[in-house]
Amino acid sequence: MTSGEHCKLGAMESKSRAYETGGERQYYLPILPIHKCKDKLLQTAREHPFFVVTGETGSGKTTQLPQYLYKAGFGKHGIIGVTQPRRVATITVAQRVAEEMDCSLGSTVGYQVRFDDCTSQKTAIMYMTDGCLLRHTLTDPNLTKFSTIVLDEAHERSLSTDILFGLLRKQFLMKCTSKRKYPLKVIVMSATLDTERLSEFFGSCPVCVIPGKVFPIKERFHNLIGPRDKDNSAYVTETVKVTLQTHLNESAGDILVFLTGQSEIEKACDVLYNKAEMIDYRHDVFDSSVDGLLILPLYGSMATDQQKRIFLPPPKGIRKCVVATNIAATSVTIEGIRYVIDSGFVKQLNHNPRAGLDVLEIVPISKSEAVQRAGRAGRTASGKCHRIYSEEFWEKCMPDHMIPEIKRTSLTSVILTLKCLEVNDVIRFPYLDAPEERFILEALRKLYQCSAIDRGGNVTDLGRFIIEFPLSPNLACALIKATSLGCEDLLLPVAAMLSVEHVFIQSGITQKQKEVEESHKTLSEMAGGDNDFATLFSIFEQCKSSDNPVLWCRKHAVHWRAVKSAFSVEKQLRDITNKLKQLKNFPVEKSDIPKNELLQRCLCAGFFSNVARRSVGRTFCTMDGNGSMVHIHPSSALFGQEASLEWILFHNVLVTSKIFVRTVCPIRYEWVKDLLPKLHDVDAYELSSVAREEVTEEELAKWESREQAKRNNEGLEASL
Ligand code: ADP
Ligand code: MG
Repeated sequence: MTSGEHCKLGAMESKSRAYETGGERQYYLPILPIHKCKDKLLQTAREHPFFVVTGETGSGKTTQLPQYLYKAGFGKHGIIGVTQPRRVATITVAQRVAEEMDCSLGSTVGYQVRFDDCTSQKTAIMYMTDGCLLRHTLTDPNLTKFSTIVLDEAHERSLSTDILFGLLRKQFLMKCTSKRKYPLKVIVMSATLDTERLSEFFGSCPVCVIPGKVFPIKERFHNLIGPRDKDNSAYVTETVKVTLQTHLNESAGDILVFLTGQSEIEKACDVLYNKAEMIDYRHDVFDSSVDGLLILPLYGSMATDQQKRIFLPPPKGIRKCVVATNIAATSVTIEGIRYVIDSGFVKQLNHNPRAGLDVLEIVPISKSEAVQRAGRAGRTASGKCHRIYSEEFWEKCMPDHMIPEIKRTSLTSVILTLKCLEVNDVIRFPYLDAPEERFILEALRKLYQCSAIDRGGNVTDLGRFIIEFPLSPNLACALIKATSLGCEDLLLPVAAMLSVEHVFIQSGITQKQKEVEESHKTLSEMAGGDNDFATLFSIFEQCKSSDNPVLWCRKHAVHWRAVKSAFSVEKQLRDITNKLKQLKNFPVEKSDIPKNELLQRCLCAGFFSNVARRSVGRTFCTMDGNGSMVHIHPSSALFGQEASLEWILFHNVLVTSKIFVRTVCPIRYEWVKDLLPKLHDVDAYELSSVAREEVTEEELAKWESREQAKRNNEGLEASL
């Protein structure tokens, strides 16, 4: 390897494989803080049905505790299930534990994430996303398959984990063990020490603290982003700049960069790679032992072999630079990081009142998340954290703590899950943090709109069909409509393509991005040029029938991996539709809808709450009661054709300075005319009223005494 040679392995084509390790098994077992607590943990597990474990990130909670439990015999009466809020973390930890236990993945140790089941009859330790466990409860409410449930990453407060908290607590309090031979053991693990509330919630259960130490970290604010830059994407360029400066000016040690999402990370890696290629290692770098930069992306939906590389130590003289989403803050720990570059932002799903919808937004992280990010630099030695933002930004734009997901996103899917689990009173479900009542009512309204529940708030047949699909209720509804009409072949590929990572390749280099955009334009033209859903369908079909799909994707600037997973998702969704078709009560419809309208008409059945009518100029007005003004996103085939459109249907929304709708198709008013009144014909309170009547006297008394206690507390606080 010559001086100045670089290698980037990852989402884009790798140009050199010089640093690959040739399949050698390379891992070492570090001494972890949890080792000292093994006996105490096992003893607590034996004595208590519920307990909380807390300790610094990297102390060994996720990878070690399930192994301790397994070896101590906790797996004898059922699977040890460990949940993670994130898909990629679920897979990497399962891989790691399988390696440590010297078994193949899918045997004793397996994982389950949406659309990917890597378990077998032998599986005794099962890592899974919290969403997956929530789905398990639908078919097996007492979780009889499991002996132990470990709810990991509790501090993240993801929506599914929060709902599981409530369900498991309910089971515990009701001693709902009738269908279980052995009581379920529940362990909650959290990286933050703020575990008092958790312990209280689970009947004042014990808390085990794993002592750990963090080395000193020097923190520096770079003042490149201030309060005024809160809403633009300048932070990506600035983050790349600081990363390069760090590489050039700091002594050896790996770098961890925090950005927000896949396409942004791909762009940043592209720019970093280009810039790093120009470095003259004889003159430009401060530390003469640094001889190259290995740039590795890390984001939610990466291929497994790519994830593995993140953990391998870099070759001698090469500095590893991992460009990651928030996943690297607590879910995965990479050894050897000495420098953290913090962009200060995170991508978050938020309910946007302006748009009346859930939208992915890029927002400033909280102060506690910033501290957590910085901590990644001081795991094994002292380190440095470069914050690209100013202290003023820290003070004015960053909240102290992150708001739990349950308080900021749409509850439609989870409320339907709860209803299917016969939790009728969704308002007084034992939430650790109760969402605002209006969010619950909004979810009930949405479920009523798509006929998943009736006016009495009870789940309908359609609701039970919808819940079968691991999809949003809207998409599931569209797919069910297509199946009823016998045209599911049109919708299945679209639903699959909408369920995988972004299929269109992006580049951070202007020239390359232009080429990429040209390819994407050709793709949409091949599908008629005026319907983004049809483009997705056409990519799926063309790629499937191509002799060389990998080459086809490369030629059209499409991620092969994304399309490949869409193939597998399509098959799984097809299995569900086939199963439903066998049911006696599954509706079959005859229709004379012309073939070229079928796709849009089915989409209308699921997404009629996402339609908009053209207003002035290039703006459209949504129909869901908010009447928000939206614009077609430049990535859509319909961008620029606004003048010729009247009604559109969209799949999702992106909010920047304006509200953009993405993945769009034109529709006709007649197609939604009969559906639109459903958006307004019910009072959400009416939907929750039956549930209220069903509350038992006993529950009511409990609830009232809790409310009274709360009021007393508030009164006390006010008087202090
Ligand atoms: P915690 O859950 O307490 O944050 P983990 O159990 O995730 O800690 O990590 C313990 C150790 O295992 C860390 O040193 C981490 O670097 C290592 N580790 C975890 N996953 C992997 C992996 N996939 N490859 C290599 N090392 C890993
Ligand atoms: Mg962990």
